[in-house]
Amino acid sequence: MPADNNVMEKLVSLAKRRGFVFQSSEIYGGLGSVWDYGPLGVELKKNLKERWWRSMVHEREDIEGLDAAILMHPKVWEASGHIAGFTDPLVDCKHCKNRFRADDPRIKGTPGQPDAQCPVCGSRGTLTAPRLFNLMFKTFMGPVEEQAAVVYLRPETAQGIYVNYLNVLQASRQKIPFGIAQVGKAFRNEITPGNFTFRTREFEQMEMQFFVKPGTDGEWFEFWKAQRMEWHYGLGIRREKLRFHQHTKEELAHYAKDAYDLEYEFPFGWHEFEGVHNRSDFDLSRHQQFSGKKLEYLDPATKERFIPYVVETSVGADRTALVVMCDAYREETVEGETRVVMGFNPAIAPLKAAVFPLVNKDGMPELARRIFDDLRRHFNVFYDDSGSIGRRYRRQDEAGTPYGITVDGQSVGDGTVTVRDRDTLRQERVAGDRLVSHLGDKLKM
Ligand code: ATP
Repeated sequence: MPADNNVMEKLVSLAKRRGFVFQSSEIYGGLGSVWDYGPLGVELKKNLKERWWRSMVHEREDIEGLDAAILMHPKVWEASGHIAGFTDPLVDCKHCKNRFRADDPRIKGTPGQPDAQCPVCGSRGTLTAPRLFNLMFKTFMGPVEEQAAVVYLRPETAQGIYVNYLNVLQASRQKIPFGIAQVGKAFRNEITPGNFTFRTREFEQMEMQFFVKPGTDGEWFEFWKAQRMEWHYGLGIRREKLRFHQHTKEELAHYAKDAYDLEYEFPFGWHEFEGVHNRSDFDLSRHQQFSGKKLEYLDPATKERFIPYVVETSVGADRTALVVMCDAYREETVEGETRVVMGFNPAIAPLKAAVFPLVNKDGMPELARRIFDDLRRHFNVFYDDSGSIGRRYRRQDEAGTPYGITVDGQSVGDGTVTVRDRDTLRQERVAGDRLVSHLGDKLKM
């Protein structure tokens, strides 16, 4: 839909202009589907990761944190099924040498047949039949590039959790049911990436694996589904833009007993940004089999031994940041002028407030600086004294800063400042020395 593509174009341009997201290695022409976060983007993503960590690890007694390495023993990926099965069917054009996913909607006809038409060069009959292509990035460990030295960049963080499940269980003295949470980078050599940061080759996941007694997995699955939706509501994402999609039998991954995607209605359609999966005892059983190490749990009360079932919640930090940016973007007319606003929930906004001296004289800059220095010990705030006050407000609207603090002539006399609300545009006068607690109350969400 042209109108919505337009929104993505505008968002990509705003993201660059304001310093949310830049193309990787841009001065060299960019690197396909790899992106860098600028000063505002890194704050937004960090706020999301911290909020997730707080809700998963700090606010729950039954979940522990972990930070496993990206490189793992290659047997891990045999056990997990990634070496055999983490593949996409691909077709090549023998004429222009481009490569496509077999289900690329731009392909006309059946790949491998004379009627198939290449979507790039338009040649007929030059597309190969689909071949499987593994999505894992391969590299070599140590000085010799040989088969025995192959290691992979992990395509998901979950396996680092499974192989540490006994370590964490013993070190933390948890009992089942309990969970392990981790935030970290994952890599997939995606073939049809695109849509800005939606599908990238390097990304961050926030994953939590919850270990339960077989038979209780259904209940825990429902519990975590509900919790995760609530968490997204708490980010302030519009409810009508969120929904669940249950995987059909054909969609279910080899390890999954049941799975739901949490989907958001992006400007380019409904797509997944989190998965909640009932992985049964697949992963731990496979690791037990491949490592030869017992991964059973001994129930201290009943003396029963079993391999726990796993309920997983897996959400992309980058994809959530994209959801939040798409959801926050709005254009509106204020006093006859169009303004662009990133309406972030203040709790996740990159900047919490900006401080402006109305003019650069009469004691205003000195007072504004003092207020700024005081605030920045508590919040990420910004100082801006250049251009008209209207332009300074507009710049902060685009950055999604919820509060604008202006030091004016009256401030110099009585120590009060105006606090402008990004969304309602209402201004209130607040004593300068009460700003920390005033903003603190508003930012707690
Ligand atoms: P998709 O169907 O979009 O490829 P998936 O079902 O393979 O995703 P999972 O393996 O369940 O995704 O990964 C969990 C989450 O990790 C996804 O919901 C998404 O937020 C994030 N994620 C997965 N692949 C990518 C990617 N290439 N770029 C950005 N985020 C990703």
